[in-house]
Amino acid sequence: MTAPLLAVEALHVHYGASHALQGIDLAVPAGGVVALLGRNGAGKSTTLKGIMGIAAPSAGRVLIDGAAVGGMAPARIARRGVGYVPETRGIFPSLSVEEHLTLAARDGGGPLARIYARFPRLAERRRAGGGTLSGGEQQMLAIARALTTGPRILLLDEPTEGLAPLVVAEIEEMLRGLKAEGLAMLLVEQNLAFALAFADRVVVLGKGRVRWTGPAAGFAAADPAQAWLAV
Ligand code: ATP
Repeated sequence: MTAPLLAVEALHVHYGASHALQGIDLAVPAGGVVALLGRNGAGKSTTLKGIMGIAAPSAGRVLIDGAAVGGMAPARIARRGVGYVPETRGIFPSLSVEEHLTLAARDGGGPLARIYARFPRLAERRRAGGGTLSGGEQQMLAIARALTTGPRILLLDEPTEGLAPLVVAEIEEMLRGLKAEGLAMLLVEQNLAFALAFADRVVVLGKGRVRWTGPAAGFAAADPAQAWLAV
């Protein structure tokens, strides 16, 4: 049996005395999409940060292609093929669109032409400062930046949060295209309808633990798990 592209095994993260992740297990196969669901504070963002080495795990393992990446700096984990799009997007107001992409590509990326072909709006706005971009453009730039190094898996933290419906549709369409090309994703998403339609599998977190996991198609019927979602 080949190792999954990404595996998280019994991952624990503490913030001081607060035990945010209490033994998370999940796996994403090559080309697969897993949706990470749960209420505010359930531990979704912390799971992504633990995988990227941004939040230091207190126990457990993260494996890429079966090799543990514990203790590695985020940039090294990224070079293993993991792209990370944080909830905060991380756009610098004073840097242009092109400067964001050039800086990211310096870490082993290919030519920007491919990125601009995928994101024509960013090509048009290449000289615009990060601070002048709309919310949707900022999110596109955050995703484009994560793609510059040619990842095999994207970790996406609420990519459609706070965006207008038309922009949400645009981003969902773009994510569908990436999935069709075989890019794996671990997606934190509040929009349950999209998450269930888009993901192959669902992992529901509640209070730092996995409360349900299974195929996305089986989730709607899994009533007890729904209790870990609604506020
Ligand atoms: P949200 O949708 O609100 O981001 P989440 O499921 O992503 O929710 P996390 O952000 O991972 O949840 O938070 C998990 C727990 O860890 C929460 O109790 C939160 O208050 C706590 N927490 C998160 N970040 C920190 C931090 N930097 N310092 C201390 N506690 C934190």
